[in-house]
Amino acid sequence: MQNWVEKQALIAPDHLAVTDGSQRLTFSQLLTDTQQINGQLTQAGFAPQKAVALLANNSFEAYRIAMALLASGRPIVWLNKRLQSTELLRQIQNSQSGGVIVEDALWRDDLANQAVSFSDLLNLPAQSLALQSEFDPNGTASIMFTSGTTGRPKGVVQTFNNHFSSAVSSMLNLGMTPTDEWLCAVPIFHISGFSILMRGLIYGMTVRLVPRFEAKMVHTILVNEPITTLSVVPFMLKKLLAQQVTTGEPYNSKFRVMLLGGGPIDLATLNQSQKAGIAVVQSYGMTETASQVVALSNQDAPAHIGSVGKPLFLTQIRLTDDQGEILLKTPALSPATIGQRTTTTARVMTPDGWYQTGDIGHFDAAGFLYVDGRVDDMIISGGENIFPDEVEAAYQAFAGLQEISVVGEKSPDWGMVPVAFIVADSSVTAEALTMYGRRKLAHYKVPKRFIKVTELPKNASGKVQRAKLRAQLAINP
Ligand code: ATP
Ligand code: MG
Repeated sequence: MQNWVEKQALIAPDHLAVTDGSQRLTFSQLLTDTQQINGQLTQAGFAPQKAVALLANNSFEAYRIAMALLASGRPIVWLNKRLQSTELLRQIQNSQSGGVIVEDALWRDDLANQAVSFSDLLNLPAQSLALQSEFDPNGTASIMFTSGTTGRPKGVVQTFNNHFSSAVSSMLNLGMTPTDEWLCAVPIFHISGFSILMRGLIYGMTVRLVPRFEAKMVHTILVNEPITTLSVVPFMLKKLLAQQVTTGEPYNSKFRVMLLGGGPIDLATLNQSQKAGIAVVQSYGMTETASQVVALSNQDAPAHIGSVGKPLFLTQIRLTDDQGEILLKTPALSPATIGQRTTTTARVMTPDGWYQTGDIGHFDAAGFLYVDGRVDDMIISGGENIFPDEVEAAYQAFAGLQEISVVGEKSPDWGMVPVAFIVADSSVTAEALTMYGRRKLAHYKVPKRFIKVTELPKNASGKVQRAKLRAQLAINP
């Protein structure tokens, strides 16, 4: 297929491709800019076709460089700025990147011998250079690391076709057009953010970048600028709702929808968004599927509250008979993780070609999917399944309890029993927690012990790493 940057420069030359509120590029300016940066990349020694790692914020320059890498045929290896340098060095090596381009504000001396800074690159006096005229649908567009919730982050290969399928499915669901403007306040090194940049290119839609999520700033932009869509994770939605309550200001008249993903959300927050008149589309997806594969519209939400919705047009989902593991087929599915072809790895594919997500779910009678938790986290106690997310959610409103994470512990009587790690005020007692739990949950779901800790282990995305808590229990029962 034709290079997407060149294509949009033909279709919609004067349409705004990107803005950060002060700087702007139309699609024709984006074409000229990526050609210029292609020259600079070549001069800096980045070979054509070879992957390049990018350590970046959600900045205008990061967008420009990412687009130049993509359009010049160099796969982008997205590095997570919250990781340690030793981990980044391993990822740079494993992805066979020809080097790393580092945003000036994120410069690290321990990466220096393979790195060039944004400003050094963009100040090179190079000639502009023609882009790669075609994208190979099955070629690698990007390599992106999973969040590392269940182990070490996996480097997921994402093809042009993966991104295209994902963008088209999302468009069919949300009804996006080039007149939409999508605010990107989620990290562009995660699929939630990068998929917005891909949709911008594919739909010919404007992407509005902000450097980071800051509730007040994002709220102000939603009120004053013609943003129609925004991607959020649960904590962002809560913060934005609080801003709305405090200010009472409605969003701009073009605002349509918030796309919510990344993890479970509590019903109270969904109800509150309904009340505030904010359309929230819940969604489910993963790095391996280049973003959402299941989504719930706002209209369906009240009748199916808590559901992540129905599989999008290009996705099929079924559940395993025994555990209810979510299996899927979609053209958005990555063909490989670094060094390992997903399509031939028995661990992740069933013999008849379904991808095993490692998540557990169930459908309601009308075909709406609910995500219950992860296979690794499920606790089977006396033959009953317990999902930590449900138990943790039941404790949401407990006064003095800041955080709770539930894992399974071996039990001679029940096989496994739930136990909770908590961060709580000194006034919080195990007795009170037990009594409270028994009022809200079936008794077998109430944690048998509450272990006080000062903090919970989390990955760079802020998701609690229950595997580490399980390991702690095994060493220190
Ligand atoms: P790793 O694969 O390295 O352990 P990760 O699975 O957290 O990390 P991501 O690809 O960022 O990495 O996250 C995808 C996962 O997030 C899904 O497999 C699922 O477990 C969870 N998830 C995504 N959306 C939802 C949702 N709406 N509700 C519940 N869980 C969700
Ligand atoms: Mg995963």
